[in-house]
Amino acid sequence: MKLRPDEITSIIKQQIENYDIKIKNEEVGYIIQVGDGIARIYGLNNCMYGELLEFSNGTVGIALNLEEDNIGCVLLGEESGIREGDMVKRTGKRAEVPVGEALIGRVVNALGQPIDGKGAINTSEFRPVEYEAPGVVDRKSVGVPLQTGIMAIDAMFPIGRGQRELIIGDRQTGKTSIAIDTIINQKGKDVICVYVAIGQKASSLAKLVSTLEQFGAMEYTIIVSATASELAPLQYIAPYAGCAMAEYFMYKGKDTLIVYDDLSKHAVAYRTMSLLLRRPPGREAYPGDVFYLHSRLLERSARLSEELGGGSMTALPIIETLAGDVSAYIPTNVISITDGQIYLESELFFAGIRPAVNVGLSVSRVGGAAQTKAMKKVSGRLRLDLAQFRELEVFTQFSSELDKSTREMLDQGERIVQTLKQPLYHPIPMHHQVIIIFAVVNKFLSDVPIEKVREFETKLIEFIDTRYPQVSETINNTKDLDDNTAETLKSAIKEFKQQYSGMGG
Ligand code: ATP
Ligand code: MG
Repeated sequence: MKLRPDEITSIIKQQIENYDIKIKNEEVGYIIQVGDGIARIYGLNNCMYGELLEFSNGTVGIALNLEEDNIGCVLLGEESGIREGDMVKRTGKRAEVPVGEALIGRVVNALGQPIDGKGAINTSEFRPVEYEAPGVVDRKSVGVPLQTGIMAIDAMFPIGRGQRELIIGDRQTGKTSIAIDTIINQKGKDVICVYVAIGQKASSLAKLVSTLEQFGAMEYTIIVSATASELAPLQYIAPYAGCAMAEYFMYKGKDTLIVYDDLSKHAVAYRTMSLLLRRPPGREAYPGDVFYLHSRLLERSARLSEELGGGSMTALPIIETLAGDVSAYIPTNVISITDGQIYLESELFFAGIRPAVNVGLSVSRVGGAAQTKAMKKVSGRLRLDLAQFRELEVFTQFSSELDKSTREMLDQGERIVQTLKQPLYHPIPMHHQVIIIFAVVNKFLSDVPIEKVREFETKLIEFIDTRYPQVSETINNTKDLDDNTAETLKSAIKEFKQQYSGMGG
């Protein structure tokens, strides 16, 4: 057999030429159909799941359905100007958002573009919107508290840095308020906060931003907004975008807090999108992978190991229930993904018990390890006493004759309920919480009339901080309540009580 070099070269040349053509064909596709924010595209055979595609009018979209002969793509912008037969280009990239220090204090949309009118965001760094969650070896167990400043939560359902704690309740039960108070309480604690608003009214968001500004909380907060008027795909990627922004800081070794307000609306946006993409509907018409929608998001919260810098991302997802039904599809999913839930109840809320935390149904599965010793010492019995009180309260509603011990238990329970009431935007520092709870669980308030309980506590704190500042200091520095301090505290409370009754309280 003879080899002829010129023949071989011509074959190779031909192949190179064909190869070129093939690539060109695959990088560009054509729109078969467009409408409702969805485009079906023919000819992008190598397109990846989640890849960004570019349309002729400059709009980008994400390829979400990879079918045999076409691709379903959701548009992230204007649909006008996009027509059947138009060309679509692959970008080879997955969706990403700008990240970095420059975003702090800004309000951005789901694509990370500023919407607060404060000019461009100068950052050169980007992170993919979807990112793999840290694995088991990359994590450390939760052991540092993330103080919310809300007594009912810090004392009974403590949250640790890196934990995911769900806030769940009907509409208008104070869910957002808990998240906002928690953000306000991070002032000076070196925690970067990200608040993601999904499917809310633009007016509520504007109010929220001005509240945060008023309390100086925007100095360490990023707001990602996809309001109800925005396209479903934008609402869909907003939490992932916010997560990427927080992740940037987490991998830099910082502590972060992220609020997803709320994931019910997120699931609805995803359902809308999936139905338009003609994915088969399942339970409550949600697509089959709606669990994965939230699990892959919340799994990205973590407390990283020392090797990775020891940063953390604490997540406070919010879920809205209908008529208190926690066993609906989305609530049960998210309950099973998170490390506990704060359950807010309309009945309590309307009875004036705010924050309306239901003690029986709320739980924090990992935060106990993160609670300070001081708090652990005083709050041990709180939850039990309160749960007992709730039971007794119902039981004794109709009887007038009560024995002494039952009466005492009811009295004590009522005082605890009063103690745990807290107005908006008044986070209480840990050492003050310890002092207040110490006073109530040691029954120093049993002779204070119910309506005076809150006033008594406020004045007590003032008294101790002026006369016995060492008590607060010691608790704050050691995070513990040693016997000595406890004794000082006891006599201080007694002294205050004499003064207080002298004032006619
Ligand atoms: P939505 O379902 O509309 O999102 P939500 O559950 O997030 O409502 P919020 O918006 O936080 O509820 O609160 C509802 C109302 O209750 C607000 O007007 C708020 O001012 C009030 N509120 C919430 N918490 C408290 C509190 N601790 N003390 C007094 N008022 C409160
Ligand atoms: Mg809300």
